[in-house]
Amino acid sequence: MLANLHNADIPRPILEVLRRLRELGFAVFLVGGCVRDMVRGVPPKDFDVTTSAHPHEVQGAFKKVIPTGIQHGTVTVVIGGNHVEVTTFRSEGDYHDGRRPSSVKFESDITEDLSRRDFTINAMAYDPISRELVDPFGGQADLQAHVICCVRNALERFSEDGLRPMRAVRFAAVLGFTLEPATRAAIPPTLPVFRKVALERVREEFVKVLLSPRAESGILLLADTGLLEVFLPELARAESEAARLARTAAHSAPAEVEIRLATLLADLVSGPLARDIGIRLKFPNKVADTVGLLVEQAALENRIGEGDPALRRLLARLGLGQLESLLAVAHTRIQVRVPERLSDFIRLQERLRALAAAKPPLSAKELALTGGDIMATLGVGPSPIVGEATRFLLESVLDEPSINQPEKLKELLRAWQAGKGSA
Ligand code: ATP
Ligand code: MG
Repeated sequence: MLANLHNADIPRPILEVLRRLRELGFAVFLVGGCVRDMVRGVPPKDFDVTTSAHPHEVQGAFKKVIPTGIQHGTVTVVIGGNHVEVTTFRSEGDYHDGRRPSSVKFESDITEDLSRRDFTINAMAYDPISRELVDPFGGQADLQAHVICCVRNALERFSEDGLRPMRAVRFAAVLGFTLEPATRAAIPPTLPVFRKVALERVREEFVKVLLSPRAESGILLLADTGLLEVFLPELARAESEAARLARTAAHSAPAEVEIRLATLLADLVSGPLARDIGIRLKFPNKVADTVGLLVEQAALENRIGEGDPALRRLLARLGLGQLESLLAVAHTRIQVRVPERLSDFIRLQERLRALAAAKPPLSAKELALTGGDIMATLGVGPSPIVGEATRFLLESVLDEPSINQPEKLKELLRAWQAGKGSA
């Protein structure tokens, strides 16, 4: 495994930071996720540097340093336009609320720093200059054995920071690892601490599980450990077969958050409730709205016999930009739940795509008459009847898009007005 480390491509600016701090006599290492990934032979997403130098000493060692989170020991060194995060070795004080340490203490020893980290595989440090790997908790062995194991005592670690159990499941899902038995056993008794974690942080980890190549087993593990009940009771309390189908479908859907979340929820909750769940999990409003809409319309297998006007109304409700997402949700659900309807669905899909490609008028602003034209034709000023007339025209063009021409619409409008007068 060490061979991977020595061959890893470490970006030049990172090496420059390591060399400079070393020259000044400080201990300095790569740490955390990047070391884990290098040991696995996977290119790291980003490189974190940790050092015995205090933040002001790091500031003194480079021309440009941004004091990103200086009170927690983190500064950002700007080197040739690149940003390198450098954090002073630290240990953490007591955790009062199961969320954040109440204080941090700078340390001179790398092992102290590693011992505050969550899992053994994340608690390794590597110095690429001396080629020294610091692995006091057996991270390499756990990487080889494919297990997620807390550093030191799992119950204590999960009691300190309620997010850690969620991270344990996230790493298991993303890496395809299992939870070491004591780590897993520590989750249920520490759920009261997990309940205190901000849902935004929980959601960030949940999204990583949902988008991982092992979403299905990841969500099952969330359910089995009791974590899911805390933030997604709608799924946790679903009947077991319904929950299984939901997981399988979500797992099979394209890995986009709106699509996977909508596929997961589509057969468990209504559109409005799906939207509320999105809001509760602190997704951006736009994401919650999309998930709500996709869930509301997901059961396309029920629309197979519908005519073009009904399908155009579906497109109008959905917005053309969301059609492919809806098709992905529906396709995945149908494949998992009603595979015998798949060929009918494929035909419906082609019809919907053809209708959308024809770019029919789907909203009032696409009508061939403006509000002003409508008022002039009716001979009225601004009044509720204008809205009524607009809706009438839109319904008419949804039925038959070819009539969306000024003269035809005016004619239609006059007939509508005459009909109202006599009614
Ligand atoms: P990813 O590749 O997903 O970014 P990562 O390991 O880099 O994985 P981060 O959340 O970026 O994960 O955290 C960086 C490092 O900080 C971790 O590897 C771990 O050592 C430490 N860490 C992060 N969150 C916690 C936590 N809640 N408790 C203890 N240590 C943590
Ligand atoms: Mg990271």
